Amino acid sequence: MTATTGLTENLAGVEAHLARFAAARLPHLIAGESVPSTNGATFANHSPIDGAALGEVAAGDAADVDAAAHAAAEAFQTWRTVPGSERREILHRVADLIVERATQIAVTECVDTGQTIRFMRAAALRGAENFRFFADRAPGAADGLALPSEHHVNYTTRHPIGPVGVITPWNTPFMLSTWKIAPALAAGCTVVHKPAEWSPLTAHLLGEIAGDAGLPPGVLNVVHGVGETAGRAVTEHPAIKAIAFVGESATGSRIAAQGAPTLKRTHFELGGKNPVIVFDDADLDRAADAVLFMIYSLNGERCTSASRLLVQATIHDAFVDRLAERMRRIPVGHPLDPASVIGPLIHPEHCAKVRGYLDIARREGATVIEGKPWQGAPPGGNWIAPALVTGAGNAMRVAQEEIFGPVLVAIPFDDEADAVRIANDTPYGLAGYLWTSDVGRAHRVAGALEAGMIWVNSQNVRHLPTPFGGTKRSGIGRDGGDWSFDFYMETKNIAIALDTHTIGRLDEEPAP
Ligand code: NAD
Repeated sequence: MTATTGLTENLAGVEAHLARFAAARLPHLIAGESVPSTNGATFANHSPIDGAALGEVAAGDAADVDAAAHAAAEAFQTWRTVPGSERREILHRVADLIVERATQIAVTECVDTGQTIRFMRAAALRGAENFRFFADRAPGAADGLALPSEHHVNYTTRHPIGPVGVITPWNTPFMLSTWKIAPALAAGCTVVHKPAEWSPLTAHLLGEIAGDAGLPPGVLNVVHGVGETAGRAVTEHPAIKAIAFVGESATGSRIAAQGAPTLKRTHFELGGKNPVIVFDDADLDRAADAVLFMIYSLNGERCTSASRLLVQATIHDAFVDRLAERMRRIPVGHPLDPASVIGPLIHPEHCAKVRGYLDIARREGATVIEGKPWQGAPPGGNWIAPALVTGAGNAMRVAQEEIFGPVLVAIPFDDEADAVRIANDTPYGLAGYLWTSDVGRAHRVAGALEAGMIWVNSQNVRHLPTPFGGTKRSGIGRDGGDWSFDFYMETKNIAIALDTHTIGRLDEEPAP
């Protein structure tokens, strides 16, 4: 299939499919019903491709969140008692329907977010995998530990914490929301999901799919709206027991404060400024592939993107030249064209922010090399070409702040200690990547990097049982495997006496 044929095929049917969103106001999903906001308010959704209207979306406020939280609280009374094996069956059906509708999900995501189809098809299927992974763990979610002591048998059990709020960002929104919602449902919790206002469409599809799969009404509710209104109301609602949040670090701080009066349990997956360290003894061909992939895939709008390239000074110039040459060949294009790698950024504001960082880099004395823009880019879209910033120091703003776009900042280092010092000199600590053929050094540097996840001689490859999460300003808590259940469940200890221990008698004199 040529690229053009692929685009034509992908475009066929898109209009009819999106007409559905454009014609109707995208509703909330509360207690199994599609409903408008109680006050009738809506906000406009636009495609990043050309600014075209993608319809009006219900703008939720505290009243809508209250209705959703009550629906979730009521549904919790039953859902928590549904046997794990039954929850497993339902969640597998959700996964089956995601697979069945994967193309629709992927196309919708491309048009709503600007991400390209070559990544969004896989992301939709990964959403199904997330459901399958946690579905299979549902029967064991309540399992605990046996902790026997001399006079007691202690054992722990786990219980779903209650209705939870899931607040998600606009980057790869479908996949990310399944990563939070699937374990919550598998654990026996019910959910109020507040998707990002810049990418609301696929959250509605997931809600529809969950209903079609037999998830009882009220178990998964979706309330659209802006963060400061609908999101805030979710974090403040007393019936919501925990908030799983993915988004910016500054928003995480606000949510911690908003949730404090109701003592919300919070789990934060926040921003990143992740280093990729390339030593001169590395397999430089594989390292170059991975460096390019980890910043220019997904439009660079990725929390684990390797946005700071630390290269050993001995190979710096040659390695960076090579990257620049290849970066210039990366195709920017229509998100539905299978040949495109980079599509438009999510929103005009975000696009302006990313462009602004290129100006900042120039003002700070760095050199900005830009890739090839798309000549056919429609007006009104948020188009940008990939960029590589060289001659940068780690103190520059472009090296310290999360840009969240296809912009790589290259910084030279002298030796291992210098690499670790620069890598850790950031407020963030989500992921770190390092390339070396020296096994001892791989272990030393991996141990010294301040980050929740390290990949050695690899790009980001997720294995779902492993812990996912960040340190410093990149987050609090871990997802994945059993870590997810630890968040969505309360652990209870039960101590049963063997009737062999002494119980003090308060009405008797103590023994001399
Ligand atoms: P954002 O923080 O602006 O918004 C995220 C969500 O929070 C949205 O749904 C928004 O409406 C809501 N929100 C905003 N203010 C709120 C408030 N006061 N109370 C409650 N909810 C509120 O983030 P974004 O711009 O949508 O997403 C990009 C960010 O997400 C980046 O910083 C990126 O690194 C981060 N991210 C992190 C991970 C991770 O796993 N660590 C994954 C993906 C994205």
